[in-house]
Amino acid sequence: MIGLEHIDRKKPSDFAARLRPLKTVLVAGGAGFVGARLCTRLLSEGADVICVDNLQTGNLSNIAAISGQPGFRFFKHDITAPLTLVAPVDEIYNLACPGSPPKYQINPVHTFKTSVLGALNLLGLARKKNARILQASTSEIYGDPLSSPQTEGYHGNVNPVGPRSCYDEGKRGAETLFHDYGIQHGVTTKIARIFNTYGPGMAPDDGRVVSNFIIQALSGEPITIYGNGTQTRSFCYVDDLIDGLMLLMATPHDVSYPVNLGNDGEFTIAELAEIVLAKIASTSTLVNSPIPIDDPRQRRPDLRLARKVLNWGPTVTLDNGLNRTIPWFRDQLAAKHRMPEAVA
Ligand code: NAD
Ligand code: UDP
Repeated sequence: MIGLEHIDRKKPSDFAARLRPLKTVLVAGGAGFVGARLCTRLLSEGADVICVDNLQTGNLSNIAAISGQPGFRFFKHDITAPLTLVAPVDEIYNLACPGSPPKYQINPVHTFKTSVLGALNLLGLARKKNARILQASTSEIYGDPLSSPQTEGYHGNVNPVGPRSCYDEGKRGAETLFHDYGIQHGVTTKIARIFNTYGPGMAPDDGRVVSNFIIQALSGEPITIYGNGTQTRSFCYVDDLIDGLMLLMATPHDVSYPVNLGNDGEFTIAELAEIVLAKIASTSTLVNSPIPIDDPRQRRPDLRLARKVLNWGPTVTLDNGLNRTIPWFRDQLAAKHRMPEAVA
């Protein structure tokens, strides 16, 4: 069993220690796009946060603003190995897994291990600590869906042996483990099926469509539309997702079934390109390249269950969300250009 490498521990002041924590929350994948936003939000709500991340797609810069705050601790650790923790833990969010297709396909075996062994290790920890645990599952559970919008009852159309399978099947296996740990061991488990989420904090080189299109439009480079652009996605602003995740975590023990979280506005990828181009007043051209294998043709969440069980729904339109996101990427590009060239 491998212990956690202790990278950075900031002890709360005595006074702060008397006030906190309301609870201690472990966020696996907490240095990634969604994870860092969640850590920040949890801290602001008074929780102590233990961030665990192997920094595969995450970055310490994502948590730089909170790493000095009382109650925040970071451990560099790969969740495919078991975790030993002395501290009590009340809640665990499992967000650890590369979210972008080009990133999770770099090392598909490790992606699968992250999803399945990682889930097992965190479920074991939850059981030991008597903590509730939430799995960041995905709309990829539905594969290339044959019905739309996707309800949680739809079992999906997933290829078990394609380039996306390491992620899709890994996440499906993790859902199974969450379901079975609930039944067999009485652990309080939550499953969020997250649909395409974007916002400030995404890495410029993430590779997903929103970040690619914004960076390309800002740089005047061609916008890369894979296929003919008629495939659809539904885009959720990150803060809406965070609200949904936290509300799901707070539900009673019996809410252990999967719940879709996303935004049910549906756009073709060609429409997204036109919207981004117009917002940035960019002169970038559109170029089509081959559609990746097994790229889902349509995707839109049915949110009735989330609205009913969580009294939650998305509040940020794509238009407003892009207005909040474009400045983030503009700043990232400006910072990159301020950097001196690396000396060979
Ligand atoms: P991300 O790639 O930005 O973040 C993932 C984080 O997990 C990174 O910090 C990475 O370093 C870390 N990580 C990866 N493998 C790990 C391992 N074995 N051990 C420890 N840390 C590891 O992705 P994101 O968009 O922030 O997604 C967060 C979670 O939400 C992921 O599980 C993803 O599958 C899920 N999800 C995201 C979306 C979305 O659109 N953003 C949609 C569906 C599901
Ligand atoms: N896509 C695209 N150009 C890009 C990146 C992605 O046309 O530069 C398409 C991709 O083929 C898919 C959609 O945009 O149809 C969403 O891709 P993303 O990687 O963001 O997420 P996915 O939903 O496929 O996991």
